[in-house]
Amino acid sequence: MESTPPKLEMFYEGKAKKLYATADPDLVICYFKDDATAFNAKKRGTIEDKGVVNNRMSELFFGLLTRTGLKTHFVRRLNDREMLCKRLQIIPVETVVRNIVAGSMAKRLGLEEGRELSFPVVEYYYKSDPLDDPLIYPEHAILFGWATAAELETIRSLALKVNEVLRRFLDERGIILVDFKLEFGRHHGEILLGDEICPDTCRFWDKASRKKLDKDRFRRDLGDVEEAYQEMLRRVED
Ligand code: UDP
Repeated sequence: MESTPPKLEMFYEGKAKKLYATADPDLVICYFKDDATAFNAKKRGTIEDKGVVNNRMSELFFGLLTRTGLKTHFVRRLNDREMLCKRLQIIPVETVVRNIVAGSMAKRLGLEEGRELSFPVVEYYYKSDPLDDPLIYPEHAILFGWATAAELETIRSLALKVNEVLRRFLDERGIILVDFKLEFGRHHGEILLGDEICPDTCRFWDKASRKKLDKDRFRRDLGDVEEAYQEMLRRVED
């Protein structure tokens, strides 16, 4: 058993996670909270044991992606709520991949939720709370220095690869991967997948019943929120 590195100062607190430094400048400890927010923190609440589910599910998904040759920030899970990660210089662009129309895409384009896309679409959003994470063209990221053209090419191809791997894995477990958000960062000049992959950042629908098993249960007050997170973890752990 490898020893747990001591947590040093907390250098970042986000809506769902806290990041702590370690004695190694290349490594950070990520702590997963139960706090839930939606609509850019206009709606707030708690989802009991969400932090435990998101930590464990991210471990499983990052492990799966690593085995397919994808590079991520994940090093290892330390305990129920913490994982050890490589320190990233986060690129302030959120990458969303969609297989089925839902959420902001349905709203923005006046489409009904649930329509299948004939190919996955990759969208980019500028990571900015004061601006409500606006949808951008990739050219904006290049123009304003958030990422280079080469980095965006890498991000797009990694995002589509993540989609392929997760979609197949979840399909075998009776889950439709509707859409998801990824964040990437730089680590010694290399682009790594960062953040988390969990029901907060993905839309998961049960294939048979189309029941939502993700944060939309919290966003839309659908009930059974904790149960949905636990159910998703069971499906992924099987
Ligand atoms: N998403 C996220 N963080 C955000 C915005 C979106 O993790 O700040 C995820 C969301 O859970 C969904 C996907 O990205 O799986 C697409 O979200 P959408 O653009 O539809 O926005 P929403 O309507 O969820 O705010």
